[in-house]
Amino acid sequence: MTDQLHATLKENFGFEKFRPNQEEIINSVLAGTDTVAIMPTGGGKSICFQLPALLLPGITIVISPLIALMKDQVDSLKANGISACFINSTQSAIEQQLLIEALRNHTIKLVYLAPESLSYLDKAFNDLTVSLIAIDEAHCISSWGHDFRPAYTNLSYLKNRFPATPVLALTATADKATREDIITQLNLQHPNKFVASFDRKNLSLEVRLAQNRIKQIIEFITEKPTDSGIIYCLSRKSTEEIADKLQKAGINAKAYHAGLNYEERSRTQDLFINDQVQIICATIAFGMGIDKSNVRWVIHYNLPKNIEGYYQEIGRAGRDGLPSETVLFQSYGDVIQLQQFANESANAEFQLAKLDRMKQYADALSCRRKILLSYFGELISEDCGNCDVCKNPPAFFDGTVIAQKALSAIVRLNQNESLGVIVDFLRGSKNAHIFDHGYQNLKTYGIGTEISWQDWNQYLIQLINLGYCEIAFHQNNKIKLTAFAKKVLFENHTVQLTKANQPITAPKPEKPA
Ligand code: ADP
Ligand code: ZN
Repeated sequence: MTDQLHATLKENFGFEKFRPNQEEIINSVLAGTDTVAIMPTGGGKSICFQLPALLLPGITIVISPLIALMKDQVDSLKANGISACFINSTQSAIEQQLLIEALRNHTIKLVYLAPESLSYLDKAFNDLTVSLIAIDEAHCISSWGHDFRPAYTNLSYLKNRFPATPVLALTATADKATREDIITQLNLQHPNKFVASFDRKNLSLEVRLAQNRIKQIIEFITEKPTDSGIIYCLSRKSTEEIADKLQKAGINAKAYHAGLNYEERSRTQDLFINDQVQIICATIAFGMGIDKSNVRWVIHYNLPKNIEGYYQEIGRAGRDGLPSETVLFQSYGDVIQLQQFANESANAEFQLAKLDRMKQYADALSCRRKILLSYFGELISEDCGNCDVCKNPPAFFDGTVIAQKALSAIVRLNQNESLGVIVDFLRGSKNAHIFDHGYQNLKTYGIGTEISWQDWNQYLIQLINLGYCEIAFHQNNKIKLTAFAKKVLFENHTVQLTKANQPITAPKPEKPA
């Protein structure tokens, strides 16, 4: 089997060896097992269904959210001599009929579909032998994810329609809650799960206070005058304003946002890809499906809404594996604005909790990469040495006792309370919530009166960032312990904390650019 997989990889895709997890994922689906594959962008997810499609007897259905990307994928498969097609509403009924005919007699092995197409193709499915169903960008099914697409919720239909066919769910960006949600909603049966490392060691991480951002950016660019970079901004207007200011400083920059017409966008994109424009000032509309390997830096002019988005955006730097820089500006003003957006959204609570997590990352006093990776469920034992906190660490003290008190309080409160209540409990507050729940009668109530409310708050954030506890944002932001907490509670594991001498969130609201 191994030989056959390698031969197919070489022959049809021209690659010598598999990337991490690809072979395991392929073996899992070939064995007929439902499978969840979590890999960072650029990790090589496509091969995980394209290669099995060649080996399996029936056809492979690929669900993909973006019709625009389907055409590219199909074209590149055809270029490799693999028969593939897409079916969508832009085609005529006759065209579709011909494609379905070709799928029926297996002259085409792989078909890309948008989730919206399933219902009207239902009849056509009757006489197809389906060997594999791949669901790309599977996080779109979850309203807990950052990219919810209502049509994705129809996909559970597939498991009912083809109960014997294995489903492969693929995604790059999913926190733990979203991952569980994918499995439940797709009705996957005892799936094998594969999580590839999200660590991109070549990306440096840095957070700066948002003061004189334009000046800081110009200085940053002047140090590396020929390197390509992307500046992500919150609003369309600010992409244009920033591009304008950079141009006035003699820098080759252009704006990109969804408000520009199609021609203008694709021209800007092409100029950037061909190194004729050095810098793009963009909203998050920029980047999806763009494969430029030598982006040397990414700057976030504004705080992103959530860590998934942030991670995906910085991931556009350094795809060639060479050292690349990322800088995030954080300002109190952005936090307020994002909180307003989140409050107005349909699932305000999730959005706010995700924003909180983003804010905590920006406020971090321990290795930022550890925090990022722990968000994706990955623990690294060593600090990374390639983030600003590692390079310029704050002073730490032995905070083991503080950590023990905080974690015990979380246990006493049955992992059922949010951060603020835990702090009130530790400080022996006499407020209504405490008394209503009878918390004043529990052991460890008031064991931390000597530490201020503010300090407790920060220590708890540090404990979350260190991976000892986590915020269950789909459950009212309750603080839960991780498996790691046992080390502190029962094994006397030492915890280093730091006392911040400044407010941990950026101090001054700044006027918009
Ligand atoms: P993803 O969908 O995870 O973002 P892709 O499937 O588009 O990633 O793959 C990213 C790039 O890596 C593509 O250019 C692809 O051809 C390449 N790639 C995938 N698997 C391998 C491999 N085993 N060896 C070398 N290159 C690979
Ligand atoms: Zn670090």
